[in-house]
Amino acid sequence: MSSSTVITNIATLITNDPSLSDTDPLGTVRNAAVVLEGDRVAWTGEASKAPATDNRVDAGGRAVIPGFVDSHSHLVFAGDRTEEFHARMSGRPYGAGGIRTTVAATRAATDAELEANLTRYLREALRQGTTTFETKSGYGLTVEDEARALRIAAAHTDEVTFLGAHVVPPEFAEDPAAYVALVTGEMLDACAPHARWIDVFCEKGAFDGDQARAILTAGRARGLRPRVHANQLTYGPGVQLAVELDAASADHCTHLTDADVDALAQGGTVATLLPGAEFSTRAQWPDARRLLDAGATVALSTDCNPGSSFTSSMPFCLALAVRDMGMTPDEALWSATAGGARALRRDDVGRLAPGAYADLAVLDAPSHVHLAYRPGVPLVTEVWHRGVRVN
Ligand SMILES: [Zn+2]
Repeated sequence: MSSSTVITNIATLITNDPSLSDTDPLGTVRNAAVVLEGDRVAWTGEASKAPATDNRVDAGGRAVIPGFVDSHSHLVFAGDRTEEFHARMSGRPYGAGGIRTTVAATRAATDAELEANLTRYLREALRQGTTTFETKSGYGLTVEDEARALRIAAAHTDEVTFLGAHVVPPEFAEDPAAYVALVTGEMLDACAPHARWIDVFCEKGAFDGDQARAILTAGRARGLRPRVHANQLTYGPGVQLAVELDAASADHCTHLTDADVDALAQGGTVATLLPGAEFSTRAQWPDARRLLDAGATVALSTDCNPGSSFTSSMPFCLALAVRDMGMTPDEALWSATAGGARALRRDDVGRLAPGAYADLAVLDAPSHVHLAYRPGVPLVTEVWHRGVRVN
């Protein structure tokens, strides 16, 4: 029998458990406690009604939220793009081609360098409350380098995505069709065993709708599940392709027609918004309000990568979403936790209900509203992962 721990004296507990309330999707409990047993949540409710446990932790009147689920990151990379950011903030626009800079650095790096870099950013994210993360390949773009990125990622998370179709590498610039053939052939063969998902950057300058369809369909035939970088820089076919192929998520969703919004609202694909990218490229914000009002499911994620969004901070993204994308603090928190879980088709993370993983963050604040109310302040003071305090 594993030992049980109660975390009690919680001013505001966010459970994301819809069974607790008809009107509050956050399933908020005041003056609450949560009981952890082994790596799972065993009980939540009012502190005065908590069952007896082996251990007791006093939260000191702080808020407790589910650990953040960062469903979109690019953390297997080497090199640095400070100069590109500096230049862009001095007036040069962002194009998809900047990815090639990181590709060159990543190909030149050793496995140990890639692993050390990944571990560093995972620690950084964990300290800020991220307990589940997805990460992608996409900076290797050769059979060997893509498979190696996925192997390295798979040692740290189950949510590994093959993104050989990030950008056409320079050696295929004259023959993109040959690169698509490689991605859907030999590269897919080498990568499928190490990944759960397949993704495509469907964008002008990257891959068009027909190429994206061919790549996602080939991946699906090999047991990978689709997700799509869609409608980031321009309007395009990515979102509707994602919905048509039942992708778990269409990511970015910055430039959407009414038909795109309708497709997301009616389909099973989550709209994952990545405001770190718009912040870091001084681009137009995605309109979360429009998606929510239409009935779409919205997730928030960092898109952490060295080029267009070099933040690992879910609290930062949440604050941007509240300030600039029309989300309420409650909606933003839900999207950064339960929404991310939906975008990964998971129900064992992103919520604190009996049976879910005991992944949570304690905030040095009485409620989650402070995440947007006090932007940039390191409010995450404790992180528990799988029932163990890790920070
Ligand atoms: Zn991305």
